[in-house]
This record gives sequence, structure tokens and C-alpha cells, in this order.
Amino acid sequence: MRYFPLFLDLDGRDVLVIGGGAVALRKVETLRLAGARVTVIAESLHEALRALAARGGISLHERRFESRDIEAPGLARPRLIIAATGDRDVNAVAARAADAAGIPCNVVDDRELSTCLMPAIIDRSPVQIAISTGGASPVFARLIRERLEALLDESLGPLAQFAERWRATARKVLASVGARRRYFSWLLTGPAAHAIRDGRRAEADRLATRELARLRHRANGGTGRVADSPAAGHVSLVGAGPGDPGLLTLKGLRTLQEADVVIHDRLASAGVLELARRDAERIDVGKRPGAGTSQDAINALLVEHALRGRRVVRLKGGDPFLFGRGGEEIDALRAAGISFDIVPGITAAVAAGASAAIPLTDRRHVHAVRLITGNDPAVLGAFDFSDVAAGRETLAVYMGVAQLPALRARLLAAGVPPAMPVALIENASRAEQRVVSTTVDDLAMAADRHRIASPAITLAGFVAASAAARWHPDLKSAADRSI
Ligand code: SAH
Repeated sequence: MRYFPLFLDLDGRDVLVIGGGAVALRKVETLRLAGARVTVIAESLHEALRALAARGGISLHERRFESRDIEAPGLARPRLIIAATGDRDVNAVAARAADAAGIPCNVVDDRELSTCLMPAIIDRSPVQIAISTGGASPVFARLIRERLEALLDESLGPLAQFAERWRATARKVLASVGARRRYFSWLLTGPAAHAIRDGRRAEADRLATRELARLRHRANGGTGRVADSPAAGHVSLVGAGPGDPGLLTLKGLRTLQEADVVIHDRLASAGVLELARRDAERIDVGKRPGAGTSQDAINALLVEHALRGRRVVRLKGGDPFLFGRGGEEIDALRAAGISFDIVPGITAAVAAGASAAIPLTDRRHVHAVRLITGNDPAVLGAFDFSDVAAGRETLAVYMGVAQLPALRARLLAAGVPPAMPVALIENASRAEQRVVSTTVDDLAMAADRHRIASPAITLAGFVAASAAARWHPDLKSAADRSI
């Protein structure tokens, strides 16, 4: 570690800024945000600095800096010095004088002369995040800040204030450090945190009071339920996307990281699951045909964990409301009076199109997409495929691998041309992804030859002719050029 990070309390304390240009002005503004008493010494001054001094915000000395200024009788001894003159000789004099006096000094954009560095800052006061590359690349520090800004929503500050407000009370009521730790992790991630995020402060305080009463009751050896308890849990149905963790939404990521328990499908990829908190419980309810946990059991599990006051994420492959039984699950949650929210995800057909470079619509001739389930020949039989036959519509078939002969027969019977392009996309967006290009006539045989297995999406329509196999040499694609 080349630099030791720390946060300085400059409230009401003296800071000396040497230099009076635009760079110095920005430093002065940040220093004033931290409550510092700023003195500026510079030969020439930015208008805004003059205006600030006229309002009494800073004190100004319009002259060249000299090293004795640091200990000058008329000036308070500064706690920090920032040199921003753009003249390396003057900066060097300042740095040497500061070092001799034992005062930390930052010379803007000059790591060699500096004894401390200014980080890139994310300010969600009272939460502050400072990023430094040790002077290696200030631009990189700023890029990292932008990435973090995207991850950390505006509720961070209000949440920290919320926790602060409850600190003293919690310390009085909960004797053990462990109980307080549990209380605050609940406070900052549970339903009260959600209320704060939505601006419902009174509701958040009500939940915080109730949970505190419950914990006190338990700490005193109570076992039964406290009146007006237990604390309500919450269930989030989160779309995990097709597998590539990069395709999880930011909101999905935030929600996942707050979960106490993650109840997931077989299709929620290991890469996405890894993004949950390390100490979150993970429950696999993967439904394989004939195995896995029944839907009723899953519904019961969601309700049970929420009733224990936990934050539950029901993590589902793709989008929760597309062939994901999300509807049945929210019915169960409604019936049990449990609060829930839904975070959408990128559905398999959309991901398959993207990873195989197949646009699902095309303004020139394809004006619709139809997403269907292909696992039941009777359901397939009930569809009207005339728009697919006419080439106006792209067909995306989910869960259809076992019934491809039935799909083929049905499409041909509906008048779909046998040479209509088809792409079979297995494991879209994952490292194991494969794309097989074929035709309606040959789709079942091609799937057989290439041993296409679930999860796979079948895309049928003229757009499928643009499958990635044609032009993307990197894709592991077994192209059947039978068109
Ligand atoms: N809710 C999910 C669909 C669940 S049904 C979604 O919105 O994507 C399961 C079917 O989704 C699989 O049989 C397969 O057809 C499809 N599927 C899911 N992930 C896939 C992937 N990575 N690649 C191809 N197909 C996928």
C-alpha cells in the first residue's frame, strides 16, 4: 500500500490554497463543502474567488506565495495546504515549506511534490467513497467513480442517516453486539430500508420500532410472538437474464445483494448466483421434468421465509413473467399478505437473438414476434401460424427441444415454407453457447445431429437466415448449411 487513506475533519479549520485559477477555485469549493476556513494566496485571481472573498467566504492575499507564509504571524497555521499555481517552481517552494512544517500538502497533478493525494469522490453524505489510483491515472479514478455511481443509488445517504438515528436507541435496548449487528443489517436491507428508499420515513420508523421490540423480546428469552410482530419480510421476483451475469439488470444486482435468502431455478446461472451476498442462504428449487420442487412447495417456501422477516429473492432465469410462473407466485404472496416487487430480466428469446446476431424484427419485412411455449403438441396445434408462413412474423419457441418433430409437422401443415430459415440457439449468452442454422424442414434432424439440449430457443423466420454462424468466426457454432 503506497498511500494511507483517511478522511480529514476540516470543519472550522484552516486550509491554505496557493494559486487563484480555475483549478484552485474547484479545490476551494470542495474545501468549503467540508466546512474548512480557506485562505488563498495568489498573484492573479479568478473572478469567482474575488466574489467569494467579497461575501466573506474566504480570505484572499493577492501576491506571490513565499515559504514563510506558512508560519506567518498574521495567518493561522494551516492543517492542509493545496498548491494549484500551475508554476512548478512556486509549487515546489510550497511543498518544501509544508514538508518542513509537517503539514500535508497536495500539489495538483504532481504526485512527486505531493505528500497527500486528492481522490475522486462519490458523495452520498454521510456516506463518502474516495477513489485513488495512487496518482497513476486520475482519469481511471474518474472512470471507476462513474461505474460505482451507477451501482449506488441515491438512497445511500438517507439510509445512513436512518441508521444513525436509531443508533442510540438500539444501544440502549439491545445489550449484545451480535443483536445490534443483526438489527442494523436488517434495518439497512429489509423492508424499513425499502420504505426509506421510497421516501416513506414514518413507515420506516414504525417498522424499525417493531423489529426492535421483537428482538428485545427474544433477547429476554421470549419465544412467543410479540404483539404486532413478526417483522414483515419481502419477496422480490428477480429476472436473472439468460446466464451471462453481465445481462443482469442493475436493479436486479442491487436487490440480489440485499437478499437474506435466494430461492433460485436451475436456469439462474452460477455466475449470477455468485453476485448474491456471501452469507445469503441459497435454495435450489430447479424444476427438472419429473423432479425438483413442486410449484406449491415453492410458493410455500417463499411465504415461509418472508413470514420469518427475511428478504427473499426469487431468482428466475430470463424474465419472471415470461414462462416463469411468476403469476402463480404473486398470487400466493397476495393471498398470504406479503409485500413483493418484480425486477424484470432479459428473456431468452431476446438474448438468443442478440447472441446469434438475429434481429427479431426487421422494418423491411418482419413486423411481429411471437413467443410461445413448445412443450405441448396440443398447445402447438391450437396456434395459427399464418403470419409465420407469410414471413411477417418471427417465431421464438421456448421449452421446445423435446417436441421439435411436432413443431416441424405443425409449421409445415400451417403452410410455412420448408426452406424457411431456423436457428437453434442453445445456452444463449453463456460460454457453452451453440448456434445451429437449419430450416423448418430439417429442424428436428439437425437438432438430433447436433444433440441440441435444453435450454435452447428455436427462432424461425426469414430473420434467422442472418444467424451468426455466417459471419462470426468466434462463435462455437455448428452451422448446418442446409438452407
Ligand atoms: N423465464 C425464462 C423462460 C423460462 S422457460 C425467460 O424469460 O427466458 C425455460 C426455457 O427458456 C428453456 O426451455 C429455453 O427454451 C429457454 N431458455 C432459458 N435460458 C436460455 C438460454 N440461456 N439459452 C436458450 N434458451 C434459454
